Amino acid sequence: MKVIISKLVLSVFLVCVCSSMVFSQNSKDQGNFVMVIHGGAGTILKSQMTPEREKAYKETLTQALQTGYDKLKKGESSLNAIEATVRIMEDSPLFNAGKGAVFTNEGKNELDAAIMDGKTLMAGSVAGVTTIKNPITAARAVMEKSEHVMMVGSGAEKFARESGVEIVDPKYFWTKSRWDALQAIKKEDSTKTELDHGNKKSMKLGVENRDHKFGTVGAVALDLNGNLAAATSTGGMTNKKYGRVGDAPLIGIGTYANKNVGISCTGWGEFFIRNVVAYDVAALMEYKGLSVNDAAEEVVMKKVPALGGDGGLIALDKKGNVSMPFNTAGMYRGTVTKDGRIEVFIYKD
Ligand code: ASP
Repeated sequence: MKVIISKLVLSVFLVCVCSSMVFSQNSKDQGNFVMVIHGGAGTILKSQMTPEREKAYKETLTQALQTGYDKLKKGESSLNAIEATVRIMEDSPLFNAGKGAVFTNEGKNELDAAIMDGKTLMAGSVAGVTTIKNPITAARAVMEKSEHVMMVGSGAEKFARESGVEIVDPKYFWTKSRWDALQAIKKEDSTKTELDHGNKKSMKLGVENRDHKFGTVGAVALDLNGNLAAATSTGGMTNKKYGRVGDAPLIGIGTYANKNVGISCTGWGEFFIRNVVAYDVAALMEYKGLSVNDAAEEVVMKKVPALGGDGGLIALDKKGNVSMPFNTAGMYRGTVTKDGRIEVFIYKD
Protein backbone atom coordinates (compact mmCIF):
# COMPACT_ATOMS: atom_id res chain seq x y z
CA MET A 1 0.00 0.00 0.00
CA LYS A 2 2.80 2.35 1.05
CA VAL A 3 4.60 1.68 -2.23
CA ILE A 4 1.45 2.43 -4.23
CA ILE A 5 0.88 5.69 -2.38
CA SER A 6 4.45 6.84 -2.82
CA LYS A 7 4.32 5.92 -6.52
CA LEU A 8 1.10 7.90 -6.82
CA VAL A 9 2.63 10.90 -5.08
CA LEU A 10 5.66 10.67 -7.34
CA SER A 11 3.57 10.54 -10.52
CA VAL A 12 1.43 13.50 -9.41
CA PHE A 13 4.64 15.39 -8.67
CA LEU A 14 6.12 14.50 -12.09
CA VAL A 15 2.96 15.50 -13.92
CA CYS A 16 2.98 18.85 -12.12
CA VAL A 17 6.66 19.48 -12.85
CA CYS A 18 6.34 18.45 -16.50
CA SER A 19 3.21 20.47 -17.16
CA SER A 20 4.73 23.54 -15.51
CA MET A 21 7.82 23.04 -17.71
CA VAL A 22 5.69 22.88 -20.84
CA PHE A 23 3.73 25.91 -19.73
CA SER A 24 6.77 28.00 -18.96
CA GLN A 25 8.51 26.81 -22.13
CA ASN A 26 5.65 28.05 -24.26
CA SER A 27 5.43 31.08 -22.01
CA LYS A 28 1.97 31.97 -23.16
CA ASP A 29 -0.75 34.07 -21.66
CA GLN A 30 0.67 34.18 -18.16
CA GLY A 31 0.43 37.94 -18.06
CA ASN A 32 3.54 38.59 -16.04
CA PHE A 33 6.29 39.11 -18.59
CA VAL A 34 8.06 42.42 -19.02
CA MET A 35 10.53 41.52 -21.73
CA VAL A 36 11.06 38.96 -24.48
CA ILE A 37 14.08 38.64 -26.77
CA HIS A 38 15.23 36.55 -29.70
CA GLY A 39 18.63 35.84 -31.18
CA GLY A 40 17.40 34.46 -34.48
CA ALA A 41 15.50 31.46 -35.80
CA GLY A 42 16.88 28.79 -38.12
CA THR A 43 18.30 25.31 -38.45
CA ILE A 44 19.60 25.23 -34.91
CA LEU A 45 20.04 21.59 -34.03
CA LYS A 46 21.21 20.18 -30.73
CA SER A 47 23.17 17.59 -32.67
CA GLN A 48 25.27 20.37 -34.22
CA MET A 49 25.82 22.33 -31.02
CA THR A 50 28.72 21.88 -28.61
CA PRO A 51 28.01 22.28 -24.87
CA GLU A 52 30.41 25.27 -24.79
CA ARG A 53 28.61 27.02 -27.61
CA GLU A 54 25.22 26.36 -26.10
CA LYS A 55 26.46 27.77 -22.80
CA ALA A 56 27.83 30.88 -24.53
CA TYR A 57 24.49 31.53 -26.25
CA LYS A 58 22.53 31.04 -23.04
CA GLU A 59 24.87 33.30 -21.09
CA THR A 60 24.63 36.13 -23.60
CA LEU A 61 20.84 35.84 -23.84
CA THR A 62 20.65 35.92 -20.05
CA GLN A 63 22.97 38.92 -19.82
CA ALA A 64 20.91 40.73 -22.46
CA LEU A 65 17.67 40.07 -20.58
CA GLN A 66 19.20 41.06 -17.25
CA THR A 67 20.46 44.35 -18.71
CA GLY A 68 17.01 45.28 -20.01
CA TYR A 69 15.29 44.10 -16.85
CA ASP A 70 17.53 46.22 -14.61
CA LYS A 71 16.48 49.30 -16.57
CA LEU A 72 12.79 48.44 -16.46
CA LYS A 73 12.98 47.80 -12.74
CA LYS A 74 14.48 51.24 -12.18
CA GLY A 75 11.49 52.73 -14.00
CA GLU A 76 13.30 53.47 -17.26
CA SER A 77 11.37 53.36 -20.53
CA SER A 78 10.83 50.24 -22.61
CA LEU A 79 12.85 52.03 -25.34
CA ASN A 80 15.89 52.32 -23.06
CA ALA A 81 15.54 48.69 -22.04
CA ILE A 82 15.35 47.25 -25.57
CA GLU A 83 18.16 49.44 -26.89
CA ALA A 84 20.50 48.31 -24.09
CA THR A 85 19.45 44.68 -24.53
CA VAL A 86 19.94 44.67 -28.29
CA ARG A 87 23.36 46.34 -27.91
CA ILE A 88 24.56 43.41 -25.78
CA MET A 89 23.65 41.01 -28.57
CA GLU A 90 25.05 43.32 -31.27
CA ASP A 91 28.39 43.38 -29.44
CA SER A 92 28.55 39.58 -29.28
CA PRO A 93 30.03 37.68 -32.24
CA LEU A 94 27.48 34.91 -31.62
CA PHE A 95 24.56 36.71 -33.25
CA ASN A 96 23.98 37.94 -36.77
CA ALA A 97 23.81 41.60 -35.77
CA GLY A 98 26.52 44.17 -35.11
CA LYS A 99 29.85 42.41 -34.50
CA GLY A 100 28.66 38.99 -35.71
CA ALA A 101 26.91 40.19 -38.88
CA VAL A 102 26.94 37.83 -41.85
CA PHE A 103 28.66 38.62 -45.16
CA THR A 104 27.09 39.73 -48.42
CA ASN A 105 27.97 38.01 -51.67
CA GLU A 106 30.63 40.67 -52.18
CA GLY A 107 32.20 39.92 -48.81
CA LYS A 108 30.88 43.00 -47.00
CA ASN A 109 28.78 43.41 -43.87
CA GLU A 110 25.64 45.48 -44.51
CA LEU A 111 23.55 45.95 -41.39
CA ASP A 112 19.87 46.80 -40.84
CA ALA A 113 18.04 47.81 -37.63
CA ALA A 114 14.77 49.33 -36.44
CA ILE A 115 13.16 50.53 -33.24
CA MET A 116 9.58 51.57 -32.50
CA ASP A 117 7.84 53.20 -29.55
CA GLY A 118 4.36 51.74 -29.03
CA LYS A 119 3.12 54.72 -27.05
CA THR A 120 3.77 57.40 -29.68
CA LEU A 121 4.10 55.23 -32.81
CA MET A 122 7.42 56.98 -33.40
CA ALA A 123 9.87 54.78 -35.27
CA GLY A 124 13.39 54.87 -36.65
CA SER A 125 15.47 52.59 -38.81
CA VAL A 126 18.69 52.26 -40.75
CA ALA A 127 19.52 49.89 -43.60
CA GLY A 128 22.62 48.83 -45.51
CA VAL A 129 25.05 50.45 -43.08
CA THR A 130 28.65 49.26 -42.94
CA THR A 131 30.37 51.39 -40.31
CA ILE A 132 27.92 51.78 -37.42
CA LYS A 133 28.98 49.68 -34.43
CA ASN A 134 25.48 49.52 -32.94
CA PRO A 135 22.86 50.01 -35.65
CA ILE A 136 20.06 49.94 -33.06
CA THR A 137 21.42 53.14 -31.53
CA ALA A 138 21.54 54.74 -34.97
CA ALA A 139 17.93 53.67 -35.56
CA ARG A 140 16.95 55.34 -32.28
CA ALA A 141 18.81 58.48 -33.34
CA VAL A 142 16.84 58.55 -36.61
CA MET A 143 13.64 58.26 -34.56
CA GLU A 144 14.50 60.91 -32.01
CA LYS A 145 16.84 63.31 -33.76
CA SER A 146 15.54 63.48 -37.33
CA GLU A 147 12.18 64.14 -38.89
CA HIS A 148 12.47 60.86 -40.82
CA VAL A 149 11.72 57.23 -40.13
CA MET A 150 14.23 55.41 -42.30
CA MET A 151 17.72 56.27 -43.55
CA VAL A 152 19.97 54.07 -45.67
CA GLY A 153 23.62 53.58 -46.61
CA SER A 154 26.11 56.41 -46.48
CA GLY A 155 23.42 58.98 -45.59
CA ALA A 156 22.44 56.97 -42.52
CA GLU A 157 26.13 56.69 -41.59
CA LYS A 158 26.67 60.41 -41.97
CA PHE A 159 23.64 61.11 -39.82
CA ALA A 160 24.78 58.60 -37.18
CA ARG A 161 28.23 60.17 -37.02
CA GLU A 162 26.72 63.65 -36.66
CA SER A 163 24.44 62.35 -33.91
CA GLY A 164 27.39 61.03 -31.91
CA VAL A 165 26.77 57.33 -32.63
CA GLU A 166 29.96 55.23 -32.55
CA ILE A 167 31.50 54.60 -35.97
CA VAL A 168 33.97 51.77 -36.65
CA ASP A 169 36.13 50.56 -39.49
CA PRO A 170 34.16 47.97 -41.53
CA LYS A 171 36.88 45.45 -40.58
CA TYR A 172 35.40 45.45 -37.06
CA PHE A 173 32.61 43.21 -38.38
CA TRP A 174 34.92 40.53 -39.79
CA THR A 175 34.57 37.20 -37.99
CA LYS A 176 36.03 33.91 -39.14
CA SER A 177 32.86 31.87 -38.65
CA ARG A 178 30.76 34.23 -40.81
CA TRP A 179 33.49 34.40 -43.46
CA ASP A 180 33.70 30.60 -43.57
CA ALA A 181 29.89 30.41 -43.84
CA LEU A 182 29.97 32.67 -46.91
CA GLN A 183 32.70 30.56 -48.53
CA ALA A 184 30.71 27.38 -47.81
CA ILE A 185 27.55 28.83 -49.39
CA LYS A 186 29.48 30.00 -52.44
CA LYS A 187 31.01 26.56 -52.84
CA GLU A 188 27.58 24.97 -52.51
CA ASP A 189 26.27 27.41 -55.12
CA SER A 190 28.94 26.61 -57.65
CA THR A 191 28.35 22.89 -57.22
CA LYS A 192 24.62 23.44 -57.70
CA THR A 193 25.26 25.58 -60.74
CA GLU A 194 27.42 22.89 -62.31
CA LEU A 195 24.76 20.30 -61.62
CA ASP A 196 22.28 22.69 -63.14
CA HIS A 197 24.22 22.70 -66.44
CA GLY A 198 25.04 26.33 -65.95
CA ASN A 199 21.41 27.41 -65.90
CA LYS A 200 21.82 29.85 -63.02
CA LYS A 201 18.38 31.37 -63.49
CA SER A 202 16.65 28.29 -62.23
CA MET A 203 18.22 28.74 -58.80
CA LYS A 204 15.86 30.88 -56.79
CA LEU A 205 17.49 33.68 -54.89
CA GLY A 206 18.01 32.77 -51.28
CA VAL A 207 16.90 29.15 -51.50
CA GLU A 208 20.36 28.06 -50.49
CA ASN A 209 20.02 30.09 -47.33
CA ARG A 210 17.19 28.02 -45.97
CA ASP A 211 19.54 25.59 -44.29
CA HIS A 212 21.84 28.22 -42.88
CA LYS A 213 21.27 29.48 -39.39
CA PHE A 214 19.90 32.94 -39.06
CA GLY A 215 20.79 34.96 -35.97
CA THR A 216 19.08 38.29 -36.11
CA VAL A 217 18.37 39.78 -32.69
CA GLY A 218 15.29 41.48 -31.30
CA ALA A 219 13.66 42.65 -28.10
CA VAL A 220 10.23 43.77 -26.93
CA ALA A 221 9.64 45.32 -23.52
CA LEU A 222 6.80 46.60 -21.37
CA ASP A 223 7.76 49.32 -18.89
CA LEU A 224 6.30 50.31 -15.52
CA ASN A 225 4.11 52.89 -17.26
CA GLY A 226 2.58 50.18 -19.43
CA ASN A 227 4.35 51.30 -22.63
CA LEU A 228 5.59 48.79 -25.16
CA ALA A 229 8.55 49.12 -27.54
CA ALA A 230 10.16 46.78 -30.08
CA ALA A 231 13.59 46.57 -31.72
CA THR A 232 15.33 44.37 -34.28
CA SER A 233 18.92 44.34 -35.57
CA THR A 234 20.52 42.13 -38.20
CA GLY A 235 23.28 41.54 -40.72
CA GLY A 236 20.60 40.11 -43.03
CA MET A 237 21.21 36.86 -44.86
CA THR A 238 24.54 35.33 -45.79
CA ASN A 239 25.37 35.78 -49.47
CA LYS A 240 22.72 38.48 -49.97
CA LYS A 241 23.17 40.70 -53.01
CA TYR A 242 24.47 44.26 -52.87
CA GLY A 243 21.85 46.62 -51.55
CA ARG A 244 19.46 43.88 -50.43
CA VAL A 245 17.35 45.00 -47.47
CA GLY A 246 15.43 42.49 -45.37
CA ASP A 247 12.38 42.72 -43.15
CA ALA A 248 14.12 43.80 -39.92
CA PRO A 249 14.39 47.57 -40.59
CA LEU A 250 10.97 47.81 -42.23
CA ILE A 251 8.40 49.20 -39.82
CA GLY A 252 5.33 46.97 -39.72
CA ILE A 253 7.22 44.03 -41.24
CA GLY A 254 10.13 42.91 -39.06
CA THR A 255 9.51 45.42 -36.28
CA TYR A 256 6.33 47.01 -34.92
CA ALA A 257 4.86 48.30 -31.67
CA ASN A 258 1.64 50.05 -30.73
CA LYS A 259 -0.34 50.42 -27.51
CA ASN A 260 -1.46 46.78 -27.60
CA VAL A 261 1.56 44.78 -28.69
CA GLY A 262 5.24 44.85 -29.65
CA ILE A 263 6.72 42.47 -32.23
CA SER A 264 10.18 41.60 -33.56
CA CYS A 265 10.70 39.04 -36.32
CA THR A 266 13.47 36.79 -37.56
CA GLY A 267 13.63 34.53 -40.57
CA TRP A 268 13.76 34.61 -44.31
CA GLY A 269 13.13 38.31 -44.81
CA GLU A 270 11.65 38.23 -48.31
CA PHE A 271 8.73 36.13 -47.07
CA PHE A 272 8.22 38.30 -44.02
CA ILE A 273 8.04 41.37 -46.26
CA ARG A 274 5.49 39.77 -48.56
CA ASN A 275 3.37 38.78 -45.55
CA VAL A 276 3.67 42.16 -43.77
CA VAL A 277 4.22 40.02 -40.71
CA ALA A 278 4.54 42.29 -37.66
CA TYR A 279 1.66 44.55 -38.57
CA ASP A 280 -0.47 41.56 -39.50
CA VAL A 281 -0.08 40.21 -35.97
CA ALA A 282 -1.03 43.61 -34.51
CA ALA A 283 -3.98 43.91 -36.91
CA LEU A 284 -5.32 40.44 -36.13
CA MET A 285 -5.32 41.43 -32.46
CA GLU A 286 -6.88 44.84 -33.02
CA TYR A 287 -9.50 44.06 -35.66
CA LYS A 288 -10.27 40.42 -34.97
CA GLY A 289 -9.76 40.40 -31.23
CA LEU A 290 -7.27 37.52 -31.37
CA SER A 291 -4.96 36.90 -28.40
CA VAL A 292 -1.29 37.67 -28.95
CA ASN A 293 -0.51 33.99 -29.20
CA ASP A 294 -3.30 33.14 -31.65
CA ALA A 295 -2.36 36.12 -33.83
CA ALA A 296 1.36 35.31 -33.82
CA GLU A 297 0.77 31.63 -34.56
CA GLU A 298 -1.66 32.41 -37.37
CA VAL A 299 1.01 34.41 -39.18
CA VAL A 300 4.17 32.44 -38.38
CA MET A 301 2.78 28.91 -38.48
CA LYS A 302 0.32 29.37 -41.36
CA LYS A 303 0.81 32.43 -43.56
CA VAL A 304 4.61 32.53 -43.78
CA PRO A 305 5.06 28.79 -44.51
CA ALA A 306 2.16 28.92 -46.99
CA LEU A 307 4.30 31.18 -49.17
CA GLY A 308 7.36 28.98 -48.62
CA GLY A 309 9.14 31.06 -45.98
CA ASP A 310 10.45 30.20 -42.55
CA GLY A 311 11.35 31.94 -39.33
CA GLY A 312 9.76 33.11 -36.12
CA LEU A 313 8.86 36.10 -34.01
CA ILE A 314 8.53 37.35 -30.48
CA ALA A 315 5.52 39.32 -29.30
CA LEU A 316 4.54 40.85 -25.97
CA ASP A 317 1.14 42.39 -25.32
CA LYS A 318 0.16 45.19 -22.96
CA LYS A 319 -1.00 42.71 -20.33
CA GLY A 320 2.38 40.97 -20.24
CA ASN A 321 1.46 37.92 -22.32
CA VAL A 322 4.23 36.55 -24.49
CA SER A 323 4.27 34.53 -27.70
CA MET A 324 7.40 33.12 -29.37
CA PRO A 325 6.32 30.93 -32.32
CA PHE A 326 8.80 29.67 -34.94
CA ASN A 327 8.53 27.19 -37.79
CA THR A 328 12.25 26.38 -37.92
CA ALA A 329 14.19 23.79 -35.90
CA GLY A 330 15.10 26.35 -33.25
CA MET A 331 15.08 29.97 -32.20
CA TYR A 332 17.36 31.56 -29.62
CA ARG A 333 14.93 33.25 -27.25
CA GLY A 334 14.20 34.22 -23.69
CA THR A 335 11.85 35.97 -21.34
CA VAL A 336 11.95 37.83 -18.06
CA THR A 337 9.03 38.23 -15.69
CA LYS A 338 8.02 41.19 -13.51
CA ASP A 339 9.86 39.65 -10.58
CA GLY A 340 13.05 39.14 -12.60
CA ARG A 341 12.80 35.43 -13.40
CA ILE A 342 14.83 34.80 -16.56
CA GLU A 343 14.37 31.82 -18.86
CA VAL A 344 16.22 31.13 -22.10
CA PHE A 345 15.54 28.53 -24.79
CA ILE A 346 17.13 27.37 -28.03
CA TYR A 347 15.35 24.35 -29.47
CA LYS A 348 11.74 23.28 -29.83
CA ASP A 349 12.13 20.97 -26.81
N1 ASP B 1 15.13 38.46 -41.22
C1 ASP B 1 16.52 38.68 -41.52
C2 ASP B 1 16.65 39.13 -42.94
O1 ASP B 1 16.03 38.58 -43.81
C3 ASP B 1 17.37 37.49 -41.30
C4 ASP B 1 17.21 36.82 -39.96
O2 ASP B 1 16.22 36.97 -39.29
O3 ASP B 1 18.12 36.13 -39.54
O4 ASP B 1 17.41 40.04 -43.20
